[in-house]
Amino acid sequence: MASSSHAVPRHACHATGCDVVVPPRLFMCKKHWFALPKPMRDAVWAAYRPGQEVTRDPSREYLEASRAAIEYLGPKAVTGA
Ligand SMILES: [Zn+2]
Repeated sequence: MASSSHAVPRHACHATGCDVVVPPRLFMCKKHWFALPKPMRDAVWAAYRPGQEVTRDPSREYLEASRAAIEYLGPKAVTGA
């Protein structure tokens, strides 16, 4: 029996409709991350601050870059692997 569900909050891919669990420092699962144009991935990383997932205080740049990426992928996540 294992139910320490209170421990670590599960961090899922940020793409809409995708619930693949990824480490908090990763923005999206591999499939969605690599579906982004490289400049967009660069923008997310450039704005990323180590520890922001702990402090929950991402920069405005990060929020904007991440929102742009999510919007790029669209309201419906790509399906089929
Ligand atoms: Zn995903």
